Order: sequence, then C-alpha cells, then structure tokens
Amino acid sequence: MAETFKLTYGTMYNPPEELHQKYDAALAKVKASLGREHGMIINGEERFVADKFEDRTPADTDVVLGIFQKGGVQDANDAVEAAKRAFPGWSHTPWQERIALVRKAASLMDERIFEMGVIVGMEVGKNRMEALGDVAETADLFRYACDQMEANQGFVVEMGRDPLTGYLSTNTSVLRPYGVWLVISPFNFPCALTGGPTAAALVAGNTVVIKPATDTPWTSRMIAECLRDAGIPAGVFNYVTGPGSTLGQTLIDHPAVAGVTFTGSYEVGMKIYRDFARGRWVRPTILELGGKNPAIVTRHADLEAAAVGIVRSAFGLQGQKCSACSRVFVEEPVYDALVDRLVELTRKLAIGDPTERNVYLGPVVNKSSYKDFQDFCADLGRHGKFLNGGHVLTEGAYARGYFCTPTLVGDLPYDHPLWKTEMFVPITTVGKFQTLDEALVMANDVEYGLTAGVYGTEEEVSIFFDRIESGVAYSNRPQGATTGAWPGFQPFGGWKASGSSGKNSGGVYYLQNYMHEQIRTHVVKL
Ligand code: NAP
Ligand code: MG
Repeated sequence: MAETFKLTYGTMYNPPEELHQKYDAALAKVKASLGREHGMIINGEERFVADKFEDRTPADTDVVLGIFQKGGVQDANDAVEAAKRAFPGWSHTPWQERIALVRKAASLMDERIFEMGVIVGMEVGKNRMEALGDVAETADLFRYACDQMEANQGFVVEMGRDPLTGYLSTNTSVLRPYGVWLVISPFNFPCALTGGPTAAALVAGNTVVIKPATDTPWTSRMIAECLRDAGIPAGVFNYVTGPGSTLGQTLIDHPAVAGVTFTGSYEVGMKIYRDFARGRWVRPTILELGGKNPAIVTRHADLEAAAVGIVRSAFGLQGQKCSACSRVFVEEPVYDALVDRLVELTRKLAIGDPTERNVYLGPVVNKSSYKDFQDFCADLGRHGKFLNGGHVLTEGAYARGYFCTPTLVGDLPYDHPLWKTEMFVPITTVGKFQTLDEALVMANDVEYGLTAGVYGTEEEVSIFFDRIESGVAYSNRPQGATTGAWPGFQPFGGWKASGSSGKNSGGVYYLQNYMHEQIRTHVVKL
C-alpha cells in the first residue's frame, strides 16, 4: 500500500487505488471458497459437533458463506477447562514473549487484511472501507495492548520503603492476570470487538475463551487463525460458536471464568452482569453496551461540516454502530438549511452489495433487524415526518437482501419513545432547539452515554465538552459527528448505560482492567 497512507476511520474516504485492487483480488478468492465448513478451536484442536448452523450474507440470503458448529454445554465446559489448564504456563510466560506473539498475530492480520475485510463485508453487510477499517483497527488494538505493556514495563512499580530502623522493607506493586477471560462479541464490529478484548486479555497474561455473535462467526474464526498461526500455545485462546442463550449462558455461568468482556446490547449485557454476580465473589465485568448518540448543531456551526459528519455517522454501517448518530438537535434558525443539506447528501448514498466499490450502505444484518426497521418506520410515519427514506428496498438486486433506505425523520414530538430507544437501523430523528442549554439537557436525557458531537463556536464546544455525559465527545468533525474512533487516538467507551469500566478501550487506562494488583512487601533484617 502507498507508504504515506494510514487507514483509519478518519482517512478512509480517500483511499489509494491500490487498496481497491487488492480488495477486488481478495473478493474473487473468497467468493471461490464459500460454503466450507469451519470448526471451533478448543485446546488447539478443531472441534466439530453434530449440530451446525449456516452463515449467510444479509446482502443475498441465498448465499451460504460457511457452515459453523452449533456448540453446546460440553464445548463450553471443555473450552473453559482448556483455558484453565493453559493459564499457569501463559501467565508465567514473560510479558516480553507474550507481546512478541501478539505482535506476530497483528502482522498476520495485516497480511490477511483484504481477505478478512471481504469476509467482514459479506458477513455483516459492511462496505469495503469500513470492513477494511474493522480489520486494521483490530491489528492496531493488538499492537496498542502490546505497546502499553511495554511502556509500563509489565506494570511493576517500586513503592515507598517502610520507615523502619533495623530492617530494609521494600514494597513492589505488580499487576497480575486473573485467569480465564471470556470474550463475548457483537455482530457489528466482529473483528475489533472480538480481537481488541482478546488481545488485552492475552497480553495481560489471561487465557481466553471467545464466543462471537451467531451472525458473524467467520470473522472471529479468522482472528483465531491469526493467533494460532502466530504460535500462541494450545488452550491459551479457544474459539467456540453457537447461540448466546445456550452456549453463551453456559460460559457466563461457569465458575472457573475469572472475568468477562461483553460487547453488545444493554439487555443482554445487564443480564450477564446480574448472572455473573451469582458467582462466589465479585469478578471483573467489562460491559460495552448501546448508545443513543446526539449531534448538536448551533446557529454558528459550519453547516457543511455538520451535514457531512452527521450523514456519515447516521448511515455508516446502516446505523448499526453503537456510536451511530441517531439524534440530531439543530438550533432553530439553521434548522431548514441543515435539513436540506442532510437530505441532499443522504439521497446521494449508494445502497447495494457492500463489497462493491461505490456502495456506501449495505443491508441490515438479519431478518429481525429488517423487521425492526419496518416496525419503527410504521410508528415514525404516524407520529413524525419522513424527510428521506422510510421504506425497504425489494426490487431487482435488492430482492434477496435486507436493504433499507437511509431514513431521516423530522417533526417527531420530543416525548415520543423513539427519541430515547436505540433503534440500531438506519434511522435518525432531527429536532429543533432554542438554546444550547436546552440542547444539552435533551442530549443528556437518555440512559446511554456513549458518543456525542457538536458543531459550533469554540465557546460552545467548551461548554459541550464540560456538560455532555458521554465517554467519547467530538467537535466540528466532518469525518463523523459521533463515529470513527481509533485506538491510540480516540479511546472508546461509554458512561451510564453504555459501559461499566469507565476506562476506554484503545486508551492508556484500559489494559489495567485485565489485571489485579499484588503488593509485595519484602523484609530483610539489617
Ligand atoms: P446482542 O444481541 O446483545 O449480542 C451480543 C453477543 O451476546 C452475541 O455474541 C450473542 O450471541 C451473545 N449473547 C446473547 N445472549 C446471551 C446470553 N444469555 N449469555 C451470553 N451471551 C449471550 O448484541 P448484537 O445485536 O450482536 O450487537 C448490537 C448491540 O451491541 C447494540 O446494542 C450496540 O450498541 C452494542 N454495541 C456496543 C459497542 C460498544 O463498544 N459500546 C460496540 C458495538 C456494539 P448470539 O449472537 O448467538 O445471540
Ligand atoms: Mg443480536
């Protein structure tokens, strides 16, 4: 790739030509290999079971991407046991060796980025640049975890010496891994949200069981292969596939699981939190949950930057990002001008097969999301006004996929419940405000607190930063009003109902979540 180009969600709008050529070559290769069966990986061995499930692309439900194992109780137990057996060896492997292996896995991911990007695109329905971004972000999350371990020299810190006479009493703080770490991931960023927590857990010295979303098992299998091919020993990571409600629940209920990172919906996350609390002691529970992310546009804003940023964040990945911009508050005097531009830009978005070069919007992920979209539109059509969209696409090339039009809704009364519900489909509601204070009150008046954006003056931006209740806050950003975080640049995490740890992933405080402190006092009589 061109030496000067670094792919991030900020730079992805102007990729070099070479990137498209490589993607096209990988697309042809992956298409020639569809329909194969893939095992789980438990204790370094392929595991096949009697029950299977099909992974189909939401762009064309006739196409079977692969056949995957419907793992059950036995597989969950075996995976945890394998991770438990591998823990003493891995946790006592010097951190320098652990990060060398994780860095190797990141390099393999770089080498496989186009193939993996195609798989992400087909499985999720994600457009090419966003899919490549998901893989590139994962490799960077791997490296970021390694870099943090290195920068902190394994988290060994000399504390004060006790003020004793006749003794030399030294104190050393050491961060140490917990044990078996469970990673349960969602469909929408199947690479980054499986790989990121896995890498952090492994670098810290934990062993891992990965359970991906049933809509996206293939991407996680590719991550597992990178870990395996990098030489990470058997049992240190295990990859199991199957329903969250059975396989996932068995993992959550397993007493030997020492900690969990769950990324997904608020409902499932809170259930996991409560179920996990039934263990005999409190165990670390990192939850990364939903969002209802606002953009605020004041009358002083650069309306072009605002419109571009909002459309990107509202409709990138069909509104199925936890960080999607789903609420827009506009100061009354510029409401009409902004709405006109939003509609104009939204109409230009190409909808179709997400692996095609010029497509921006692919399908929504599955039948249930497709139905959600139609149900929400029925409700919104009765209580608000469609500024664009409001319907599904069923003709021609759209006939066998879950394609929805990007939908902007105006005139929805502020007491309508959909102002507060995470819809997770390409629908954004737009409303007016009179004062910045009023906009901030509305922006914060939801349970979620993940991301938020503002467009306005320097003074308005500083008021926004001070008062907005969100883990990620952006100002005046055409690259995305509420989306587009990157490890090492914008660490990602949520407040309130959006997250539990208060420490964002891809940031300087994250890796510590995967370790507990031991203070070592050593006394020598003088
Ligand atoms: P989901 O339905 O909550 O599923 C997430 C994962 O949990 C899947 O692997 C699922 O398996 C599993 N699961 C379901 N029930 C379970 C149980 N009882 N025990 C253990 N595991 C269980 O979420 P999704 O639809 O995939 O993803 C969308 C949601 O994720 C949105 O709410 C979005 O905002 C949120 N999200 C948050 C972030 C963040 O960083 N804050 C990032 C991305 C997405 P199955 O697939 O087999 O059901
Ligand atoms: Mg789901």
